[in-house]
Amino acid sequence: MSRSQVVILGSGTPNAEADRAGAGIAIAVDDVPYLVDCGHSVVQRVVQAHAAGKIAWDSVSLRHLFVTHLHADHTVGLPDLLYTPWIQGRAQPLQAYGPAGLADMAKHLQRAYQENIREHLSAHPASAAGYQLRAHAVGAAPVYQDARIQVEALPADHGDLEAYSYKFTTPDGVIVHSGDTKPVPAFADWARGCDILLHEVYSSARFPQRERAWQRYHARVHTSSAELAALARRVRPRLLVLIHQLFWGQSPRQLCAEIQASYAGAVVSAKDFDIFDL
Ligand SMILES: [Zn+2]
Ligand SMILES: [Zn+2]
Repeated sequence: MSRSQVVILGSGTPNAEADRAGAGIAIAVDDVPYLVDCGHSVVQRVVQAHAAGKIAWDSVSLRHLFVTHLHADHTVGLPDLLYTPWIQGRAQPLQAYGPAGLADMAKHLQRAYQENIREHLSAHPASAAGYQLRAHAVGAAPVYQDARIQVEALPADHGDLEAYSYKFTTPDGVIVHSGDTKPVPAFADWARGCDILLHEVYSSARFPQRERAWQRYHARVHTSSAELAALARRVRPRLLVLIHQLFWGQSPRQLCAEIQASYAGAVVSAKDFDIFDL
């Protein structure tokens, strides 16, 4: 009997919000977490969720990371993810999958923190491997596989950044994470029939109030609520969970209603610490 869960650690966007950490969601299978993205405060959310008894695993368990793209709201927590669990006792390198630039980002971070690393290795009983990152460029499917999970990627369309959507197949069902993207033609067939669809969204209702330059940007690299409703009608997930939500003044309920106006399935607006069981 296995158990798979989706744990919303950070439901935020580049716009800092008081009650939302940066982008970060864990797929946990039998209490082994596979983390998607690592925005600000994501490691702290793990510590908080563990302390509150919401999850059995803690930050030391964070050993697999899947990065959708290298925007800061998805990666600014990376040094925290490298060094905090290390000091807590992680003895294995972080296995990180994502765009080709991830290896360079990690190399520069390790240089930036070289004084910290040098001192810890010489003065503390710290593992020689627990702070390291092994970068794996996303190539042919599957991206990753072990006894609990299979991970596949689909190229996303997020401006000129290398970006991915990820599909996680566990013994209990299938979870698809859109990453940041505008609708991609191949996505609906690729994601069809998944149990949980985690998808980014911006408010179609508030879009006209945005500045023209921002309208052009968002229309080019993100997914509107109207577009997501059309997409969800084709994917037909058991549950649609809104993540990376650009509300622009809408309430979570109003944003869900925008989608439910033309989509009859179940829709939830994610907030930090939400847990969805498969
Ligand atoms: Zn983002
Ligand atoms: Zn982005």
